[in-house]
This record gives sequence, C-alpha cells and structure tokens, in this order.
Amino acid sequence: MTSNDPALEACSLPQEDDRLMVWFDIDNTLYSASSNISHAMGTRIHAYFVSLGLDHDEASELHLKYYTQYGLALRGLTRHHDVDPLDFDQKCDGSLPLESMITYDPKLRKLLEDIDRTKVRVWALTNAYRVHAERVLRILRLDDLIEGIVFCDYTVKNFVCKPEPEYYEMAMKQANINDPSKCYFIDDNRKNIDAARALNWGHCLEAMEGGRIKAIDDEREPGAVDNDVIDVSTLEELRDVWPEIFKQSCSSPN
Ligand SMILES: [Mg+2]
Repeated sequence: MTSNDPALEACSLPQEDDRLMVWFDIDNTLYSASSNISHAMGTRIHAYFVSLGLDHDEASELHLKYYTQYGLALRGLTRHHDVDPLDFDQKCDGSLPLESMITYDPKLRKLLEDIDRTKVRVWALTNAYRVHAERVLRILRLDDLIEGIVFCDYTVKNFVCKPEPEYYEMAMKQANINDPSKCYFIDDNRKNIDAARALNWGHCLEAMEGGRIKAIDDEREPGAVDNDVIDVSTLEELRDVWPEIFKQSCSSPN
C-alpha cells in the first residue's frame, strides 16, 4: 500500500549514505600471510577433497583448478559435487586454531580508529562464511570497528563469491551504494581487485604478501591492463595512499 503523502513516502525509502565506503578483505589482508593460515586452510581443504574419494594427486589438481577458476575451492565443490557447504566450513575454516595463529595488533586497531567515520564507512568484504569472518575480527579486536560484513552465504544455493561481478553488486546493494566511485577496496588477491575495477570501484589497493597462493592469485591474462591499482606492503601505508579517509590530525605528516 502506498501513501498519498509524499513526505511519508520519502521517509519510507532507504536513504543512500553519502559517506565513502572502505571495504577490507579479511584473510591475508587484515593479518599477515606469514601467519600461515592459508597453508593450514589448504591442508584441511585438501583432506576434504580426499574424503570425497579422490587420491592425493587428483585432490591437489582439482583444488587448484577450482581455486583458480572460481576464486574459492568450495564454489567448485558445490557446483560439481554434492557437498554441504556448512559441513565443509566446519571441517575447514571452523577447525583452524585461529586463536594461536593470529593476535591482536594495536597498530592496526589504531589505524581503523583513525578513519574519519563522519566521512567514511568501514565494512569487510570476504570470501569466507560469516562465522569465520566474525571469529577473525573478534581475535583481532576489530569487530567493533567494522560496521558490516559482506560474506559468502553458504546457506544459499549457488552463493556468489569474489571475483564474480554479482558478488560486488550484492555488496553494493547490501550497503545501499549506487555510486561505485565511492568504494575504496583493499584485497590481497589481484583478481578480486581487477573485478572491482571492472565495475568502476573508485580506489583499489593490492595488499602485497604471500607465497604460492599469492602467485596463483596474481596470475593474469597476458596484456591485462594495469587498472591503476597500487600495491601496499603494510596497511599503515593507507595513511599516505588514502589520506582523505583519515581524521585530519591522523594522516601521515608528509
Ligand atoms: Mg584475502
């Protein structure tokens, strides 16, 4: 039912938030790749493939294939095998001893505190399920500084993930953003960054760290455009690269 009163109608529409949006990837972006979580995750995912009846070589091959093709091994498993994503999540991400692998970093907390919330919103954009994302943010003591989490919803059949364009569109919808130029995005996976740039997300950074996974993530088509993506080796560099998102007294003195 619609109201005849235009003032009332205006009130019922969700207002677009004028502030900029900073999207942080979580895994290997908010903590160091040297924490070895990727490796521990990889071991568990490999064991999961083996539990489907594959031998070790087939498991490795398929794991790499799905990760490269879909950005997420589980995306391939749900498409081509009868796998329950929540069972996978519990056995892989859910069984990681994260509390002994990553720790609270006061400098990172201060960095997020120094972002000017009158101009900027801060959300997470992850390929993990909500449970893992929230757990990591809690351990890092950033859960109160991240206002929203866009995650892979394993409870939805054919859920989307980065770098699928539908994932970014879903994120903008959830955050009620119409203008992609307002989006600032940092991720350790180059394909995820390129996908965001293809949708005209305004400011994209690649968090540079990592070993083999990083090499796979960074594999690009020959002649791929540079996309104006800047690399940063620590999140502290955001103060120099994106000074406009920080409280004026908190950006780098240079
Ligand atoms: Mg990541």
